[in-house]
Amino acid sequence: MALFERDNDIYRDRDALREDYQPEQLVGRDEELRTYQAALQPVINGEQPNNVFLYGKTGVGKTAATKYLLSHLREDAAQYDDIDLSVTFLNCDGLTSSYQIATRLVNSLRSESNQISTTGYPLASVYEMLWEELDDRAGTVLVVLDEIDHVNDDSILYQLPRARANGNLEVAKIGLIGISNDFSFRDDLSPKVKSSLCEQEIHFPAYNAENLRAILEQRAEVAFHDGVLSEEVIPLCAAYGAKDAGDARQSIDLLMKAGDLARDEDTETIEEDHVRRGRRALERGRIKEGINGLTEHGHLVLYALLTLDLEDETPIRSRDVRPRYTRFAELANRDPLVPRRMRDHLSELAMLGIVSVTERNEGRRGGTYREYALDMDVELILSAMSDTVELVGVHDSIDPYLDDGDKPTTLDEFHGT
Ligand code: ADP
Ligand code: MG
Repeated sequence: MALFERDNDIYRDRDALREDYQPEQLVGRDEELRTYQAALQPVINGEQPNNVFLYGKTGVGKTAATKYLLSHLREDAAQYDDIDLSVTFLNCDGLTSSYQIATRLVNSLRSESNQISTTGYPLASVYEMLWEELDDRAGTVLVVLDEIDHVNDDSILYQLPRARANGNLEVAKIGLIGISNDFSFRDDLSPKVKSSLCEQEIHFPAYNAENLRAILEQRAEVAFHDGVLSEEVIPLCAAYGAKDAGDARQSIDLLMKAGDLARDEDTETIEEDHVRRGRRALERGRIKEGINGLTEHGHLVLYALLTLDLEDETPIRSRDVRPRYTRFAELANRDPLVPRRMRDHLSELAMLGIVSVTERNEGRRGGTYREYALDMDVELILSAMSDTVELVGVHDSIDPYLDDGDKPTTLDEFHGT
């Protein structure tokens, strides 16, 4: 008997739901695409290209729109003998400086055998090499820097668009396309960078439920066999997506998760319930990741709040969380943080959506204060916190939530905390 058997009853092409899939058409972005296309038109006219700045939250189609238009641009530019177009696409996730970007660009323009080391040169010489490579390309060069909000200094964003004006390039016509997931990135740019990079700004707004439905329908057509999706599935994924962040990627992920659950359960169709459970599973993954990324003191603060929540002490003020936190820190053999730093951790937990914050009025005295409560189910938090529980010990209040299997020894010291 075969150990592996195909189970393709649900999916026609599951890969169509993956991040790296490029849809043939984009739905619901006509206006943005028109503006974007117009900004690229000079390339076809053989003119100096515009610099373009694209911004909008994650998952709103910035990268997809760029890849879509650039592949058409390349194809259409090939019809003209006098246009020599090259496109360099670089995702800046993981890169933090102009230096790193410049070396990556040099290498992407150079042959395999002629790569430079990504450290050790002065920035000025890397730029020299970059100008040389660009001028060697002669024609029009479009440089796409995706997710540029990861980069801390904006030297490259100034140097590239100004290279010709500054006499660094003689023949190459260069256009920079900068893409940012962060709204505030643009405002933080220095005025001289802003004026050269942001010649053409295109904002991609978040998707609403109707947009998401259209996107999901297009994708489902490719990904699933006919009749597999029950009627409510796509509207529900779209509604959740619109409620969360208007992020198409998140909605597509949810649809895939629902499909995977249905497949694992050997059902013939995907139902509303798969979506609901899929959403919970994805949420758990996100929260777990968020908790894993916290520092040790973040974990101690969360553990303190969790136990107070279980004792019905929440919503609670930071200063009333403090004794429990201090005690846990001592049990874990760590020096407790000062109150203000401890409060920063509560704010961070709130940002992750693990903790809720309510602003309250002090009454007649007029000031305000904040109260914190847990906004996530206990088992989920505990499942991501076993190290902390091990370090501090099991507080009475969490005891009922632990499986007997993974229960560390209860500390007597806790009684009366
Ligand atoms: P961003 O770059 O803005 O973070 P992406 O372009 O990566 O977002 O889009 C996220 C996912 O959603 C990708 O899988 C993309 O193909 C898909 N997507 C986004 N917008 C559309 C659209 N208008 N039509 C079809 N698919 C879309
Ligand atoms: Mg992107």
